[in-house]
Amino acid sequence: MKKLLLPLIALLMATPALAAQVAGVRLWTAPDHTRLVFDTTAPAEHKVFALKGPDRLVIDLAATDLADGFAIDKSLSDKHLKGLRHAGKPDGSLRVVLDLKRPVRPKTFVLKPNASYGHRLVVDLYPVEATRKPRVAKSTEDIKRARDVVIAIDAGHGGDDPGASGSRFRTKEKHVTLDIAKRLKRHIDAQPGLRGVLTRTGDYYIGLRKRMALARKHRADLFISIHADAFRDKRVRGSSVYVLSRRGASSEAARWLAEKENASDLVGGVTLEDKDPMLASVLLSLSQAATQHSSHSAATQVYKELGRVGKTHGRRVQQARFVVLKSPDIPSLLVETGFISNPTEERNLRDPAHQERLAKAIMQGVKRFFVESPPPGTLLAEKRKKPLRHVIAKGDTLSEIADRYQVSVAMLRRTNAIRSDNLIRVGQVLVIPES
Ligand SMILES: [Zn+2]
Repeated sequence: MKKLLLPLIALLMATPALAAQVAGVRLWTAPDHTRLVFDTTAPAEHKVFALKGPDRLVIDLAATDLADGFAIDKSLSDKHLKGLRHAGKPDGSLRVVLDLKRPVRPKTFVLKPNASYGHRLVVDLYPVEATRKPRVAKSTEDIKRARDVVIAIDAGHGGDDPGASGSRFRTKEKHVTLDIAKRLKRHIDAQPGLRGVLTRTGDYYIGLRKRMALARKHRADLFISIHADAFRDKRVRGSSVYVLSRRGASSEAARWLAEKENASDLVGGVTLEDKDPMLASVLLSLSQAATQHSSHSAATQVYKELGRVGKTHGRRVQQARFVVLKSPDIPSLLVETGFISNPTEERNLRDPAHQERLAKAIMQGVKRFFVESPPPGTLLAEKRKKPLRHVIAKGDTLSEIADRYQVSVAMLRRTNAIRSDNLIRVGQVLVIPES
């Protein structure tokens, strides 16, 4: 859907050729990129190209000069940027040259005035390694370069906010959630192609919006919040899985569109700030719909796995308006691992063996979701594109091959439509199924 919209976006971003002046330059160093912002008196029509040996980025601003009395600070520098130079050209354009410390992938866009700033030209410099585009795997080396799927694991509550507490041992929810979150991270990290990041690693509080922001910062492909329920009726028990409700999503859309601080964030790879309100709202709801769909698929897999560990509360994935689930472009789910208010479940939730079973089940659900629908550019996506193959050598048997690739003989047979060992021959190519 995004592809169809791109030409439309390009049209809307085309800016008229107005004489402009540069009145300010600001530099922001983020952990993952460098942002240079040029304050301009009119939308800046610009061209950008890179030069090598030494690495430079050239920005030509058409019909532009420096505002009276303004001088570009040539010494602006950070991990990507060595310094800035500029010169007016005979055709009336302004050329700004960024001297770079290393090659970068630039991304530029113009922003309309808002409450705090006027017209701006934003130049983002991303390190080349981190922005490699997904491509078809051609060799095992390509597979090595693909990125891991990132799963943000959020231990609910913490610090001043203990969450619910048990009736028998006064167990605090905040401790249980952190224990399970840490175990979940270990299980996720043990899976090739998956990587977990914790939103909190100790007993301290993080705001709900901050938890979402951390997931965004890590470019998470999935957000999982871990909790333990409580209810006044101590008999109530079982685990449950929640995704954001439709009403929660639409109220969040309104918030995103209304709040200036959100608008400059990228949603599903596009910024909403420079879009007209109608287009911004369409882009946002498209992104939300895709996210809701993925959230539900992932939640369903996790719910199924939790059902193997113990009783589930409710017959299916449930919907609620939890704030932490509101990221418009990061599929998100919340797991209530059990009722801490139920004495038996409180004991279970404190038990390392039970915590381990819960963590493993959640990991299995997450893994199945990503193996079935891997995000582009990830190791899992590359693996899916190019299944492993084995060329049969003299003396090979199906059981040995199955052993070597850690798959079952039955799966190997099914995948390759082989009825018995007698039917394999030297030189035959077998497709190795996903274990
Ligand atoms: Zn909770």
